[in-house]
Formats: sequence, C-alpha cells, structure tokens
Amino acid sequence: MDKQRVGVIGGGQLAWMMAMTTKKLGIDLLIQTPHEDDPAVAIADEVIFAAIDDPQATEKLAQKSDVITFENEFIDLDALKKLENNSVCFRPKLSALSPLLDKYQQRSYLQSITIPVPKFTTLEKLSLNDFGFPLVIKARRHGYDGQGTFIINNEKELSDLSSSKVNSLMVEEYVDFERELAIMAARSTTGEIATYSLVETYQKDQVCHWVVAPANVSETIQLEAKKIAEKLLTELDVVGIFGIELFLTSEEKLLVNEIAPRTHNSGHYTLDACDISQFEMQLRAVTGQPLGSTKLKALGAVMVNLLGYENSHDDYQEKRNKLAQIPHTYVHWYGKKECRPGRKLGHVTSLIKHSNINPETIAKQIESIWYPQL
Ligand code: ADP
Repeated sequence: MDKQRVGVIGGGQLAWMMAMTTKKLGIDLLIQTPHEDDPAVAIADEVIFAAIDDPQATEKLAQKSDVITFENEFIDLDALKKLENNSVCFRPKLSALSPLLDKYQQRSYLQSITIPVPKFTTLEKLSLNDFGFPLVIKARRHGYDGQGTFIINNEKELSDLSSSKVNSLMVEEYVDFERELAIMAARSTTGEIATYSLVETYQKDQVCHWVVAPANVSETIQLEAKKIAEKLLTELDVVGIFGIELFLTSEEKLLVNEIAPRTHNSGHYTLDACDISQFEMQLRAVTGQPLGSTKLKALGAVMVNLLGYENSHDDYQEKRNKLAQIPHTYVHWYGKKECRPGRKLGHVTSLIKHSNINPETIAKQIESIWYPQL
C-alpha cells in the first residue's frame, strides 16, 4: 500500500512532535509554514513555505496530501471552505472549527450546547452592573500564551485598554478558580472517542509553566470533564484531537475556558508517559485508524515548559544535560534559533514512579535548573 500523506497547516513544535511518529505509522508529513527555521521544517517530508492563512498554498498542500489537518488554527476559514467544497479532505472538517476560532463565538456555541462557561459578553454590550471588577478582556481572535488576555481591575484600565486595542474584544467574568485543568480527547472516523487523563495546569501571568498528570481531583470531576469532551467532539462530529481547558471553581463546578482544535501543550506529557502520544493519536484519527490506548505508563508525570527568559541564540546545552540527569526525565528541545522572553523553547517530562514523589517538587527542581534567578 502507498504511504498515506498527511498535510499539516503549521510547522511549529506541535508539527515537529507529530513528525516524530510518522515513521511508526508509515505516514509522510507535509507542512505549510512561513518560517524556514520553524521546528518541523527540518524533519517534514515536504514543506510549502507560505503563511498559515494562505489558501493558495493550502490548495497546493492538498494536491500532494490525502488529508489535511491542523497544528495552528489561525486560518482563513472562508477561503478554505472553497477547497472543502472541491473535495479537499480536512480533518477535523471546517464546520467543526468554525464555531471555535473566535473566542466570543466559541463561548456562545458552548453555551448553546449546554456546556458550562464563565459569564461573558462583548465589549460593546458590557454593563458594569452585571460585571464587577476584576473582569477579563480577551482578543476574540489570534490570542495565544495569554498574549490576548487582560485582567482589568478598574474603570481606568478598562478605558485604556478599550481605546488602545483595534481588534475586537470580548469580556468575561474573572473566575476565582481553585485549579486549572485540561483534557485531551480524540475522535476517529468511526466515531470512537479516546480521552486522556484529566491534568492540572499551572499558569503564571497567564502562561502555562507546568502540567501534572493525572490531576488530583475527585472521580466525579474526572468523569464530568470526560463527558464534556465527549459531548463536544460528538456534537461537532470531530475527526482529530482537541484540547479542552477548564476552570474548577471552589464550588466544585467545571467551566470550560478554551478549546484548542488540535494537540495542546497540556498533552505534551503523553509523548513520554503514554503508549500513544497525543501527536500519534491525531495522526491515527485523521488517517482513519483505530485510536488505541490513552493509559499512563507510570503513576503520573509532570511536564515543565522551558520558556525563554532572555534574548539570545544560546542552545542551553549545559542546562539541558543537567535536566536529563534527573531520573526518569526526558528533555525535548524544539531547536528554535532565537530565544525570546516567554517563547516556548522546549519542555521536560518527568515520570512519577513512586507515590511518595511530589510532582510539584520535581517541577520546582526543573525550573531551578532552567531559570537563572530562581
Ligand atoms: P490563551 O488563549 O492566550 O491561552 P486563555 O484564555 O487560555 O488565553 O487565558 C490564559 C490564562 O489566563 C488562563 O489559563 C487563566 O490562568 C487566565 N484566565 C483566562 N480567563 C480567565 C478568567 N475568566 N478568569 C480568571 N483567569 C482567567
């Protein structure tokens, strides 16, 4: 049989980690990305250099691929619909993405299918009688790593932000959550659904620093998160993998913060801690294969992002060597040529082999090796 050819829109670390599993599955990976030094460029079987939202480039990608999937959702959906109408196979299909790409529309869609979300509105409709401070303002599109998310504490901050931002914004209540959780869920062409463990994510300044799998929460919460994931993927008739970020409130209520219609940072631990990683799972789903096991191979795992903390071209080899010496620990370095503060340069996963090991202690050990001033 000929090798299946999967086209991926995006060439960052998510595509790079997807490309690690293509040999095992007998798949050729083609990517569309604008940057020559993007992580996946060096290991993809073919690269089309073009912007993520360039539909002509996607048309070329489609001519060479059996199926197209996503590692980046900043696409031009309307232009791609023309390709889909001309029989290009997108997985997930575009109608599964269209309610999700704008954060306000995403919230409205989730509410319409009775998935619980924080109270929200548009900036234009905001009434301060309904929303007290602090409140949260978000760019409706193109936000990532907390860059389009602003916690607003008073009317001055609100008017400064509203007048300085040209992009359309949405408003939501500030959720005083107990924990932040996330779950990865995949759905196959036959409607089979596989969910990974519910995990806990730790953010600082709106950016994820580390993830612990599994989350230390009740079985009821785990089941509820799984049901939310299953409902969403079924309603949207998804083929592929989605990441679902959740808030757990002090009243033990789950609220969906955000849906990523692709692999997600909260699932990176699966590369080392599960038989089938989230990246392999996406490829299995979109190429029509059965999904397989999402079980953890260890008692648990902790994944720590290696975030840039300075402008440099260093490859931090010495620090990486030190990190790799921690027992049962795997270092993934994305090979980005330029380090900038906040940029995701790599991640480290440490498997928890004994119940007396505290994941938070390991996360702090990793961060104390990585960040200079800690
Ligand atoms: P991005 O899409 O850029 O990742 P998110 O909407 O996920 O942005 O927000 C990033 C982080 O900001 C969240 O993980 C959370 O810590 C915080 N945050 C976002 N929305 C709220 C909210 N409504 N209430 C409290 N904190 C929030």
